[in-house]
Amino acid sequence: MFDLEKIIRPNVKQLTPYSCARDEFQGKADTFLDANENPFGNLNRYPDPYQRELKTEISRLKGVPAENIFLGNGSDEIIDLCFRVFCNPGKDKALTFSPSYGMYEVSASVNDVTIIKIPLNDKFGIDYDNVKNRLSDEKLKLIIICSPNNPTGNCMNITVIEKILSEFNGILLLDEAYIDFAGQPSMKDQIGKFPNLIVMQTFSKAFGLASVRVGMAFAGKEIIRYFNKVKPPYNISKINQEAVLRKLKKTEAYYSQVAKIKADRDRLSKEFAKLTGVVEVYPSEANFILVRMKDAGRVYDYLVKRGIIVRNRSSVINNCLRITVGTKTENNRILKALREFEA
Ligand SMILES: *Cc1c(COP(=O)(O)O)cnc(C)c1O
Repeated sequence: MFDLEKIIRPNVKQLTPYSCARDEFQGKADTFLDANENPFGNLNRYPDPYQRELKTEISRLKGVPAENIFLGNGSDEIIDLCFRVFCNPGKDKALTFSPSYGMYEVSASVNDVTIIKIPLNDKFGIDYDNVKNRLSDEKLKLIIICSPNNPTGNCMNITVIEKILSEFNGILLLDEAYIDFAGQPSMKDQIGKFPNLIVMQTFSKAFGLASVRVGMAFAGKEIIRYFNKVKPPYNISKINQEAVLRKLKKTEAYYSQVAKIKADRDRLSKEFAKLTGVVEVYPSEANFILVRMKDAGRVYDYLVKRGIIVRNRSSVINNCLRITVGTKTENNRILKALREFEA
């Protein structure tokens, strides 16, 4: 049986969180002399530490109650919080899959947590049998799954994820940074069914706000409470909260951009597959395409010379480039360059 209290780090359980001025008084008043702010200006006040207005809007968009939402300074803060709340440094372990997003391992190292990396199968899926025998390890506190996966672009099988969730007594962090581009639904509506599930999304990709640094976690309210206890009080600036709010009030651009990106992703995938230097174009449910080349290093250098930068992922997947879907003009530019490379 999953018991949250058993997997919270003892120091976090006992922690008395910092109580800021905005925690101690929240009502309406006309004279605020409680936070040592400068009385002049319009960015002079500390922001809402719990981003209530923003969470109300996110709740409406996502259909998740505000009390089940946590906002981080990018998903990166949420990943780090998972290590800090659930994993004892020098003792506990986390598990992830490879190839996947590099930040999980970096965050584990920063927190002195051992990371177990299970290879994905040849279709970049998770073989449950490779995970099964790890689930009973008392030291294993956190499993991180990325779906759609970066850099491979595929979604993970929901049945396998559900099986892990029901067999595992630790936390499963599901990174859905690219879910807006995927054919399969988010698992955010399953947080009530699985108390050990944290679903993470971001405003950095489909919403076009990478520079704003806001990531979302959806989870049971007890998990959210622990995140709030550990985070720095004012982790999302007022300017950043407002930038997301503006975007959420005009979602037409989001929907039309996602549709454009998906359409051009599928066009690019077909066109890449026709090039003779290409060995394989992996199916993508994200806003990038993983392509295996005959000689990825040579193609990469050639593209750089033409002013086009892609990601050379050959160190993790032999001879593979990860190509982000850009605007139509940018996509046509890379297609033209690759055709000329062949010629
Ligand atoms: C881009 C990306 C994110 C987003 O990180 P932010 O800190 O929210 O910008 C998260 N996970 C994966 C796998 C990504 O590729």
